[in-house]
Amino acid sequence: MSDPAADIVVIGSGPAGVSAALPLVEAGRRVVMIDGGRNRDASAGSPWHRMLGAHLEALRPDDGLSPKLRTPEARRLLGAFHGREPIEAEDFLAIGALGRGGLSRIWGAFVCELQDDDLQGWPLTAYDLRQSYDAVVARIGVSGSHDDDMAAFYGYSDALQMPPPLGPTAAAIFKRYSAARPDPEFALGRARNALITENRWQRQSCDLRLGCLWGCERGAIYDARQDIALLRQYANFELRDVTARRLVRADGGWDVITTRGDRLHAPRLVVAAGTLGSLRLVAPLLGPALELRVLNSPVMAVPLLVPGRLGGKLPDAGHSLAQLGFRLACSTKPGDYVSGAIYEVAGLPPSSFAARMPLGRRAATEIFHALAPALAIATVYFPGRYSANTVTLRPSAQADQAPDIEVRGAVAPEFDEVARTARERLARIWRRLGARPLPGAAFATAGTDAHLGGLFPMGLAAPHGTNNYGELHAAPGLHLVDGSALPTIPSKFTTLTIMANADRIGRYLAELA
Ligand SMILES: Cc1cc2nc3c(=O)[nH]c(=O)nc-3n(C[C@H](O)[C@H](O)[C@H](O)COP(=O)(O)OP(=O)(O)OC[C@H]3O[C@@H](n4cnc5c(N)ncnc54)[C@H](O)[C@@H]3O)c2cc1C
Repeated sequence: MSDPAADIVVIGSGPAGVSAALPLVEAGRRVVMIDGGRNRDASAGSPWHRMLGAHLEALRPDDGLSPKLRTPEARRLLGAFHGREPIEAEDFLAIGALGRGGLSRIWGAFVCELQDDDLQGWPLTAYDLRQSYDAVVARIGVSGSHDDDMAAFYGYSDALQMPPPLGPTAAAIFKRYSAARPDPEFALGRARNALITENRWQRQSCDLRLGCLWGCERGAIYDARQDIALLRQYANFELRDVTARRLVRADGGWDVITTRGDRLHAPRLVVAAGTLGSLRLVAPLLGPALELRVLNSPVMAVPLLVPGRLGGKLPDAGHSLAQLGFRLACSTKPGDYVSGAIYEVAGLPPSSFAARMPLGRRAATEIFHALAPALAIATVYFPGRYSANTVTLRPSAQADQAPDIEVRGAVAPEFDEVARTARERLARIWRRLGARPLPGAAFATAGTDAHLGGLFPMGLAAPHGTNNYGELHAAPGLHLVDGSALPTIPSKFTTLTIMANADRIGRYLAELA
């Protein structure tokens, strides 16, 4: 048996990995976290570098991706993930990151809790996550409202900071809503973002400089690298810049074979490589040819024009995270609703709008500038049960290689009708709120939402299922703590729940170890 590198090896330093590691190191366990392979922590230098990229990659022709996924930082992180072992995908965008902090370096930072209605099919209740939600919210810093129509829907954490001021277009919509509720099944309120408005340890509050898209230099937006700094204060924690290539069962635990050929031994492994990154690592431990499902939350983006704002000015201060959040019940069934967020366009590159208009680039950009003060974007998420994506694992043609992974995107047969009805109801609601949906609303390719789950569901009694603590039935001692272990995906943003669940599993392992 090789010497244990630690009590626990954590693979991945994104939101899930750091959340599982913190309770472990606080309890005195020796934790080695591995991530990345190369140090991709270096900041990209000057603001121009961050916005355009060292090779001007941000100026490449629009490829239909959201502005968030087109930044140099996003291209680096996503490119590094795919550069290693590509995942074949059809009608699906396989998003994964390779780099410290994971996707939280580029995320939108909207956070909310799940309630019992959202947890149907889970072996847990909201009560089981309560302590962990509170711990994570207090740690990452969240701003939002305690007392509007969305407050209870987003959760009960009482450590909220004041939300930043609303942008003018969002404020106009919210004013109309507050004066007259347009539909009893629709609710609108302040967005809840992991964006601080009061300084805290090593982080400065948002100064409304509108630079969110390119990463916040002040650290106002939560990024898991902030928790790595916290972890590094403990002598029993170590971070190594290496990538896990293979997981091998060994006497008294597991060996992690890295791409450098090192072997790290530990009695237990915490796998937090992001849903698709964890799939890559765990696939070789499952049967030779297997079909799994992967859930995503189908998402539509709707441009809105608020005519009352035409002729106004684009704000020169603000943030480009979500301003408002909403929900609309689809039926009286528990958990059957769509939810989403409203964004302003200040702080987003005009090219991402102009490229979608049926005009030449110059004309489209001029029209965008004229309309921008009156524009907002609504994103509408549907529950994961309307996705029908499959993952096929096939033995590789090369001996001793991980299986080939292929993901095919699809939606459930009833989805088109559900989506049409929701879209029509929302269009009526937007009009009552003084906003007109513009042509150009579109569903994103499955996976673009990056709300993935359902691969190794907690509570499923199959070899690829996991127990209540994410421990894979086919691989005892190996705990999945990221989205891959979520049994279902609601229409809400899921990262806060991934973090709370990882924290809950970390606490459990701290007592076991
Ligand atoms: C553009 C965008 C916007 C988003 N906005 C929101 C939002 O507003 N709200 C929300 O709730 N969610 C949002 N998300 C989703 C959110 O970013 C993810 O849910 C979250 O980052 C998942 O955390 P994770 O730790 O499970 O995985 P990741 O963040 O993917 O981290 C995985 C980590 O594992 C490491 N890793 C991978 N493979 C290996 C390996 N073989 N060896 C070692 N390390 C490895 C990676 O380097 C990375 O650090 C967004 C995502 C994107 C892309």
